[in-house]
Amino acid sequence: MPKNPNLTKVNHLVSKQDRTSNKDHRGGIFWLTGLSASGKSTLAMRAEAALQEKGLHAYVLDGDNVRCGLCRDLSFSDEDREENIRRVSEVAALMADAGLIVISAFISPFKLGRENARAVSSAPFHEVYIKADIETCERRDPKGLYKKARAGEIKNFTGIDSPYEVPETPDLVLDTENQDIEQSVQALIEYIESEVLV
Ligand code: ADP
Repeated sequence: MPKNPNLTKVNHLVSKQDRTSNKDHRGGIFWLTGLSASGKSTLAMRAEAALQEKGLHAYVLDGDNVRCGLCRDLSFSDEDREENIRRVSEVAALMADAGLIVISAFISPFKLGRENARAVSSAPFHEVYIKADIETCERRDPKGLYKKARAGEIKNFTGIDSPYEVPETPDLVLDTENQDIEQSVQALIEYIESEVLV
């Protein structure tokens, strides 16, 4: 809700149906959540590229990328993580309302933040759990962040000294511990297509 009482929402003259008929697919949010190095960015970027090839309009909202711009003022404290997810939830909702397929790649460790992301979207929202346990993620450690966190150089690192709340009823689970990248990408693309194609 706006803080200022002088704000009034303006209605669009373009309907959801109008936007869908322009693109031949619906907008929607595919919210990837999981530990750092579980594979969110890798799968999101591959799926975005594959959907582009097929003529579908997808866009990835990526955690590290938004923290370089929109959210560059935020830290990794619980409070700032919440604000980070609040902002990107609103952005994802706007993009999906515009008719885009939004694939978001954020650790989004807290259940409440993910529930809020679903609540603020007028377009369909799908929670996708990228499942890989801490041992697997730590073994991969593509950016060396787990090593730094274990050495105490990074504080509030999810899975080490900050909690991750596992999704209780995700709409899709991609088990990257037991599936290779290709299998997970295929499953993600199939799921997205089944939900957005008209
Ligand atoms: P996140 O965005 O969740 O932090 P990234 O996609 O940045 O994770 O990193 C995941 C890393 O794990 C990548 O280097 C990727 O190549 C590697 N990886 C190894 N096996 C898999 C798999 N089965 N699924 C996804 N990523 C995998």
